[in-house]
Amino acid sequence: MARQFFVGGNFKMNGTKESVAQIIANLNSEELPSQVEVVIAPPAPYLGLAVAENKQKTVAISAQNVFDKASGAYTGEISPAQVKDLGATWTLTGHSERRTIIKESDEFVADKTKFALEQGLSVILCIGETLEERKANVTLDVCARQLDAASKIIKDWTNIVVAYEPVWAIGTGLAATPEDAQETHKGIRAHLAKTIGEEQAAAVRILYGGSVNGKNAKEFKDKADVDGFLVGGASLKPEFVDIIKSRL
Ligand code: PEP
Repeated sequence: MARQFFVGGNFKMNGTKESVAQIIANLNSEELPSQVEVVIAPPAPYLGLAVAENKQKTVAISAQNVFDKASGAYTGEISPAQVKDLGATWTLTGHSERRTIIKESDEFVADKTKFALEQGLSVILCIGETLEERKANVTLDVCARQLDAASKIIKDWTNIVVAYEPVWAIGTGLAATPEDAQETHKGIRAHLAKTIGEEQAAAVRILYGGSVNGKNAKEFKDKADVDGFLVGGASLKPEFVDIIKSRL
Protein backbone atom coordinates (compact mmCIF):
# COMPACT_ATOMS: atom_id res chain seq x y z
CA MET A 1 0.00 0.00 0.00
CA ALA A 2 1.53 3.32 -1.09
CA ARG A 3 1.50 5.94 1.62
CA GLN A 4 2.07 9.56 0.57
CA PHE A 5 5.38 10.94 1.84
CA PHE A 6 4.72 13.57 4.51
CA VAL A 7 6.96 16.24 5.98
CA GLY A 8 5.87 18.30 8.96
CA GLY A 9 7.64 21.38 10.28
CA ASN A 10 7.21 22.28 13.92
CA PHE A 11 8.44 25.82 14.54
CA LYS A 12 7.85 25.41 18.31
CA MET A 13 7.85 28.76 20.21
CA ASN A 14 10.14 30.44 17.71
CA GLY A 15 9.81 33.29 15.29
CA THR A 16 8.36 36.69 14.63
CA LYS A 17 5.91 37.96 12.03
CA GLU A 18 8.91 38.74 9.87
CA SER A 19 10.74 35.43 10.24
CA VAL A 20 7.62 33.29 9.79
CA ALA A 21 6.74 35.26 6.64
CA GLN A 22 10.32 34.77 5.42
CA ILE A 23 10.22 30.99 5.92
CA ILE A 24 6.98 30.83 3.98
CA ALA A 25 8.31 33.12 1.25
CA ASN A 26 11.23 30.73 0.92
CA LEU A 27 8.84 27.77 0.54
CA ASN A 28 6.76 29.75 -1.97
CA SER A 29 9.84 30.37 -4.10
CA GLU A 30 10.63 26.65 -4.43
CA GLU A 31 9.34 24.10 -6.87
CA LEU A 32 8.11 21.61 -4.31
CA PRO A 33 7.42 18.02 -5.37
CA SER A 34 3.69 17.58 -5.99
CA GLN A 35 3.71 14.12 -4.39
CA VAL A 36 4.92 15.29 -0.97
CA GLU A 37 2.42 16.50 1.62
CA VAL A 38 3.91 19.31 3.70
CA VAL A 39 2.42 20.69 6.90
CA ILE A 40 3.98 23.54 8.85
CA ALA A 41 3.12 24.45 12.43
CA PRO A 42 4.03 28.03 13.36
CA PRO A 43 3.25 29.40 16.83
CA ALA A 44 -0.48 30.07 17.27
CA PRO A 45 -0.24 33.89 16.95
CA TYR A 46 1.12 33.45 13.42
CA LEU A 47 -1.37 30.88 12.11
CA GLY A 48 -3.41 33.49 10.23
CA LEU A 49 -0.29 35.07 8.80
CA ALA A 50 1.00 31.68 7.67
CA VAL A 51 -2.31 30.86 5.98
CA ALA A 52 -2.33 34.24 4.21
CA GLU A 53 1.29 34.03 3.05
CA ASN A 54 1.32 30.40 1.90
CA LYS A 55 0.96 30.06 -1.87
CA GLN A 56 1.91 26.39 -2.20
CA LYS A 57 -0.94 23.95 -2.86
CA THR A 58 0.94 21.08 -1.21
CA VAL A 59 1.63 23.00 2.00
CA ALA A 60 -0.97 23.17 4.78
CA ILE A 61 -0.87 25.00 8.08
CA SER A 62 -1.11 23.38 11.49
CA ALA A 63 -1.51 24.44 15.09
CA GLN A 64 0.96 23.00 17.60
CA ASN A 65 -1.73 22.25 20.14
CA VAL A 66 -5.48 22.58 20.73
CA PHE A 67 -7.84 22.18 23.69
CA ASP A 68 -10.56 19.54 23.97
CA LYS A 69 -13.45 21.99 24.35
CA ALA A 70 -15.22 24.15 21.77
CA SER A 71 -15.23 27.42 23.70
CA GLY A 72 -15.69 28.87 27.17
CA ALA A 73 -13.79 29.71 30.33
CA TYR A 74 -10.47 28.07 29.43
CA THR A 75 -8.04 30.98 29.63
CA GLY A 76 -5.09 30.68 27.33
CA GLU A 77 -6.37 27.68 25.41
CA ILE A 78 -7.18 27.46 21.70
CA SER A 79 -10.13 25.55 20.24
CA PRO A 80 -10.01 23.53 17.02
CA ALA A 81 -12.78 25.79 15.66
CA GLN A 82 -10.57 28.84 16.18
CA VAL A 83 -7.70 27.11 14.40
CA LYS A 84 -10.04 26.33 11.51
CA ASP A 85 -11.40 29.89 11.58
CA LEU A 86 -7.85 31.09 10.83
CA GLY A 87 -7.68 28.74 7.84
CA ALA A 88 -5.39 26.12 9.35
CA THR A 89 -6.37 22.50 8.79
CA TRP A 90 -4.09 20.46 11.06
CA THR A 91 -2.93 20.33 14.64
CA LEU A 92 -0.20 18.48 16.47
CA THR A 93 -1.17 16.71 19.67
CA GLY A 94 0.97 15.05 22.29
CA HIS A 95 4.30 16.61 21.37
CA SER A 96 6.83 15.39 23.94
CA GLU A 97 7.47 18.97 25.08
CA ARG A 98 3.83 19.17 26.08
CA ARG A 99 3.81 15.72 27.61
CA THR A 100 6.95 16.37 29.67
CA ILE A 101 6.92 20.13 30.40
CA ILE A 102 3.17 20.79 30.56
CA LYS A 103 2.54 17.27 31.99
CA GLU A 104 -0.15 16.31 29.51
CA SER A 105 -1.37 12.77 30.18
CA ASP A 106 -1.97 10.10 27.54
CA GLU A 107 -5.71 10.43 28.18
CA PHE A 108 -5.73 14.21 27.79
CA VAL A 109 -3.77 13.95 24.54
CA ALA A 110 -6.21 11.30 23.33
CA ASP A 111 -9.22 13.49 24.25
CA LYS A 112 -7.75 16.45 22.41
CA THR A 113 -6.96 14.30 19.39
CA LYS A 114 -10.53 12.95 19.29
CA PHE A 115 -12.07 16.39 19.68
CA ALA A 116 -9.83 17.95 17.02
CA LEU A 117 -10.82 15.19 14.56
CA GLU A 118 -14.52 15.63 15.37
CA GLN A 119 -14.14 19.34 14.71
CA GLY A 120 -12.66 18.67 11.27
CA LEU A 121 -8.93 19.08 11.82
CA SER A 122 -6.40 16.47 10.79
CA VAL A 123 -3.97 15.52 13.54
CA ILE A 124 -0.28 14.70 13.85
CA LEU A 125 -0.30 12.58 17.00
CA CYS A 126 3.18 12.52 18.56
CA ILE A 127 4.48 9.62 20.61
CA GLY A 128 7.87 8.46 21.81
CA GLU A 129 9.98 7.30 24.71
CA THR A 130 12.41 9.13 27.00
CA LEU A 131 16.06 8.15 27.29
CA GLU A 132 15.39 6.34 30.57
CA GLU A 133 12.59 4.36 28.94
CA ARG A 134 14.82 3.49 26.00
CA LYS A 135 17.55 2.29 28.34
CA ALA A 136 14.97 0.21 30.18
CA ASN A 137 14.03 -1.38 26.85
CA VAL A 138 10.40 -0.30 27.00
CA THR A 139 10.25 1.85 23.84
CA LEU A 140 7.44 -0.11 22.22
CA ASP A 141 5.52 -0.44 25.48
CA VAL A 142 5.56 3.34 25.89
CA CYS A 143 4.48 3.93 22.28
CA ALA A 144 1.74 1.30 22.66
CA ARG A 145 0.47 2.91 25.87
CA GLN A 146 0.36 6.37 24.26
CA LEU A 147 -1.39 4.99 21.17
CA ASP A 148 -3.83 2.84 23.14
CA ALA A 149 -5.19 5.87 24.97
CA ALA A 150 -6.17 7.22 21.54
CA SER A 151 -7.32 3.98 19.91
CA LYS A 152 -9.61 3.29 22.86
CA ILE A 153 -11.72 6.33 21.95
CA ILE A 154 -10.92 6.92 18.25
CA LYS A 155 -12.07 4.34 15.72
CA ASP A 156 -11.41 6.17 12.43
CA TRP A 157 -7.70 6.94 11.94
CA THR A 158 -8.02 8.27 8.39
CA ASN A 159 -7.09 11.80 9.41
CA ILE A 160 -4.34 10.91 11.88
CA VAL A 161 -0.65 10.85 11.11
CA VAL A 162 1.50 9.32 13.85
CA ALA A 163 4.86 10.96 14.60
CA TYR A 164 7.33 8.72 16.42
CA GLU A 165 9.69 11.11 18.16
CA PRO A 166 12.10 9.61 20.69
CA VAL A 167 12.48 12.32 23.32
CA TRP A 168 16.25 11.80 23.50
CA ALA A 169 16.55 12.63 19.80
CA ILE A 170 14.55 15.88 19.83
CA GLY A 171 16.70 18.96 19.52
CA THR A 172 19.84 17.04 20.54
CA GLY A 173 21.49 16.47 17.18
CA LEU A 174 21.33 12.73 17.98
CA ALA A 175 18.91 11.30 15.45
CA ALA A 176 17.86 7.66 15.72
CA THR A 177 19.57 5.53 13.11
CA PRO A 178 17.39 4.72 10.11
CA GLU A 179 17.56 1.05 11.17
CA ASP A 180 16.39 1.80 14.71
CA ALA A 181 13.62 4.07 13.43
CA GLN A 182 12.46 1.40 10.96
CA GLU A 183 12.39 -1.27 13.65
CA THR A 184 10.34 0.91 15.99
CA HIS A 185 7.99 2.06 13.22
CA LYS A 186 7.43 -1.57 12.23
CA GLY A 187 6.61 -2.38 15.85
CA ILE A 188 4.25 0.58 16.07
CA ARG A 189 2.44 -0.50 12.90
CA ALA A 190 2.19 -4.08 14.14
CA HIS A 191 0.70 -2.82 17.39
CA LEU A 192 -1.78 -0.61 15.54
CA ALA A 193 -2.82 -3.59 13.42
CA LYS A 194 -3.99 -5.23 16.63
CA THR A 195 -5.86 -2.19 17.94
CA ILE A 196 -7.26 -0.31 14.93
CA GLY A 197 -7.21 -3.17 12.43
CA GLU A 198 -4.78 -4.25 9.72
CA GLU A 199 -6.26 -2.09 7.00
CA GLN A 200 -6.05 1.17 8.94
CA ALA A 201 -2.62 0.28 10.32
CA ALA A 202 -1.32 -0.32 6.80
CA ALA A 203 -2.65 3.05 5.67
CA VAL A 204 -1.58 5.25 8.58
CA ARG A 205 1.55 7.28 8.01
CA ILE A 206 4.23 7.04 10.66
CA LEU A 207 6.72 9.90 10.67
CA TYR A 208 10.10 9.89 12.33
CA GLY A 209 11.04 13.00 14.31
CA GLY A 210 14.21 13.90 16.18
CA SER A 211 17.16 15.87 14.80
CA VAL A 212 16.26 15.30 11.16
CA ASN A 213 18.18 17.62 8.87
CA GLY A 214 18.87 18.23 5.20
CA LYS A 215 21.67 15.65 5.21
CA ASN A 216 20.44 12.71 7.27
CA ALA A 217 16.88 12.73 5.83
CA LYS A 218 18.11 10.87 2.73
CA GLU A 219 19.42 8.01 4.86
CA PHE A 220 15.85 6.99 5.73
CA LYS A 221 14.89 6.70 2.07
CA ASP A 222 14.64 2.92 1.84
CA LYS A 223 12.98 2.38 5.21
CA ALA A 224 9.60 0.87 4.43
CA ASP A 225 7.74 2.06 7.52
CA VAL A 226 9.20 5.57 7.68
CA ASP A 227 6.58 7.58 5.80
CA GLY A 228 8.10 10.99 6.37
CA PHE A 229 9.41 13.28 9.05
CA LEU A 230 8.36 15.72 11.72
CA VAL A 231 11.07 18.34 11.81
CA GLY A 232 11.74 20.89 14.53
CA GLY A 233 14.89 23.02 14.32
CA ALA A 234 15.61 22.38 10.64
CA SER A 235 12.10 23.48 9.64
CA LEU A 236 13.16 27.04 10.42
CA LYS A 237 16.03 26.84 7.94
CA PRO A 238 16.32 26.64 4.15
CA GLU A 239 17.41 22.96 4.51
CA PHE A 240 13.74 22.16 5.26
CA VAL A 241 13.32 22.11 1.48
CA ASP A 242 16.07 19.45 1.20
CA ILE A 243 14.09 17.31 3.66
CA ILE A 244 10.92 17.79 1.61
CA LYS A 245 12.87 16.65 -1.46
CA SER A 246 14.74 13.85 0.29
CA ARG A 247 12.71 11.05 -1.33
CA LEU A 248 13.14 12.24 -4.93
C1 PEP B 1 10.22 18.31 17.09
O1 PEP B 1 10.15 19.29 17.81
O2 PEP B 1 9.17 17.72 16.78
C2 PEP B 1 11.53 17.86 16.61
C3 PEP B 1 11.61 16.70 15.98
O3 PEP B 1 12.59 18.68 16.86
P1 PEP B 1 14.07 18.57 16.20
O4 PEP B 1 13.90 18.27 14.74
O5 PEP B 1 14.66 19.93 16.44
O6 PEP B 1 14.80 17.49 16.91
